[in-house]
Amino acid sequence: MTPATPVPAVTENAALPPVFDTLVVVGPGLIGSSVLRRAKERGGLARHVIAVDIDPAVCARVAELGIADEVMEDAAQAAAKADCVMLCVPVGAMGPVAASVIPAMKPGAILTEVGSTKVSVIEAIKPFLRPDVPYVPAHPMAGTEFSGPDAGFATLFEDRWCLLTPLEGTPSAAVEAIRTLWERCGARLRDMTPAHHDRVCAIVSHLPHLLAFTICGTADDLADETRSEVLDFAASGFRDFTRIAASDPIMWRDIFLLNREALLEMLARFMEDAQAMARAIRWGDEDYIVDRIERGRKIRKSLIENRQA
Ligand code: NAP
Repeated sequence: MTPATPVPAVTENAALPPVFDTLVVVGPGLIGSSVLRRAKERGGLARHVIAVDIDPAVCARVAELGIADEVMEDAAQAAAKADCVMLCVPVGAMGPVAASVIPAMKPGAILTEVGSTKVSVIEAIKPFLRPDVPYVPAHPMAGTEFSGPDAGFATLFEDRWCLLTPLEGTPSAAVEAIRTLWERCGARLRDMTPAHHDRVCAIVSHLPHLLAFTICGTADDLADETRSEVLDFAASGFRDFTRIAASDPIMWRDIFLLNREALLEMLARFMEDAQAMARAIRWGDEDYIVDRIERGRKIRKSLIENRQA
């Protein structure tokens, strides 16, 4: 165990009784360290927060940042102290990490996670569930292209959606506790089924990442001279794609493979639409081209109105 630098908790939720006594965050990367920072800086989430990472160097960094009361390498040992364990590891690691923490958890303690895919993560965790450990899957729809404990910040979830995909039979008190935790992180909450979640995320998040990685690859495959010009003259369109394409490879490999069906369905639809646009350009169908661009502008305008831009 690495001793952590104490940081006084300041503020807005501080007057409220914390949702949990002890919250354990496994995987203090972008998302996990943002939850830890929120807990320490704003209060109201947990009286005591423990960060867990398998890498001693990451543990040392988290301790140095002072964003947790305790930092541990052993997830099961930490889970034994928790009223809530939140898994913030890549989606492909959720099953094995859940298998290691669930047997150690106290009866009544809540298991939650923040995975970007829901059907596959729930399937991976289900075999290890205990009847006395309620499990509440969640997905805060917030992020940046950065990762690791230095990338997080306390306001990451403010005004962002957090999607809950509660399972049938989960005690409502457990679902409400996780809802309150995310509300206190500043998020707006919405419940949906895991399958619906995966289709929505395939179009709003996973397909855009696939396009960004692909367009950067296409530019990189071009002849040397053109490639250097791409880098010299990258206009805002390409620049915006490169920001998304800077995301963590392991995290996105896992998301693509674990939301395979919904993503391939959205990609097939996109390819049909791209073909239709190509046909319109070939045949000079001005109305079609203008209609598509106007629809894009409308979507951007509504995002701005909805404070999601
Ligand atoms: P991140 O910054 O890369 O952090 C991942 C954390 O998981 C790190 O602490 C990492 O430890 C740990 N980890 C990696 N592999 C592990 C394993 N096999 N066993 C145990 N721990 C492991 O990633 P992130 O962006 O916070 O994403 C975490 C989760 O949030 C993912 O499930 C992702 O789908 C979800 N999510 C991400 C976003 C986003 O935009 N980034 C948004 C919403 C939800 P080390 O540092 O020691 O490698």
